[in-house]
Amino acid sequence: SDSGSQKDRVVTEEEWLQKWEMGNIGFHKEKGHPLLKKYLDVLLNGRSGLRIFFPLCGKAVEMKRLADMGHSVVGVEVSEKALKEFFTEHNLPYCEEPVPEISGAKKLQSTSGNISLYCCSIYDLSSSIVGKFDGVWDRGALVAVNPRDRQRYVSLMITLMEKNSSYLLVTVSYDPNKHKGPPFYVPESEIKSLFG
Ligand code: SAH
Repeated sequence: SDSGSQKDRVVTEEEWLQKWEMGNIGFHKEKGHPLLKKYLDVLLNGRSGLRIFFPLCGKAVEMKRLADMGHSVVGVEVSEKALKEFFTEHNLPYCEEPVPEISGAKKLQSTSGNISLYCCSIYDLSSSIVGKFDGVWDRGALVAVNPRDRQRYVSLMITLMEKNSSYLLVTVSYDPNKHKGPPFYVPESEIKSLFG
């Protein structure tokens, strides 16, 4: 397949943590992502008070924006530095607590209560811990997942979705023979087979 050159590539959690330590975070968009702005109505579909999930959230600024609109935001991210930067850069007071079901994990929660960010691997989560979501913003998430873990990632995401949820997925299109990723190239045919 045309993504064959990437299928065995692995980016470890350690490497992600290092990117955050070094400030090597070219993927972060300080002003938010234009595609979320463009498709916000599709995500919300006129509904209010939604639960919105940000997998592999980094410090995506839209978590604050959606919370300000009255939605509840849940994110998951391996880098604690990323999550702390999120709260401090938006001047949001927060508290930290352990997550009893996941050893070593922490939950950082805005004092106002409507932003809960889990510091752990997404593979440690389940709907019994975080519940189900009405909307998902997947940018830099599926395309950051190691190609060998894609099916596991998508199967988990499906278990986290409510019946009528909307899932916005951003992928990038490029020649996978010229760039090793991440972001990885995920062909549209694979997205169809992954999500069914
Ligand atoms: N969605 C964010 C960040 C994209 S970069 C944005 O759009 O800006 C991918 C992020 O996933 C990195 O911050 C990395 O630290 C995190 N990450 C990588 N593997 C992870 C995993 N297994 N569980 C949770 N977070 C992970």
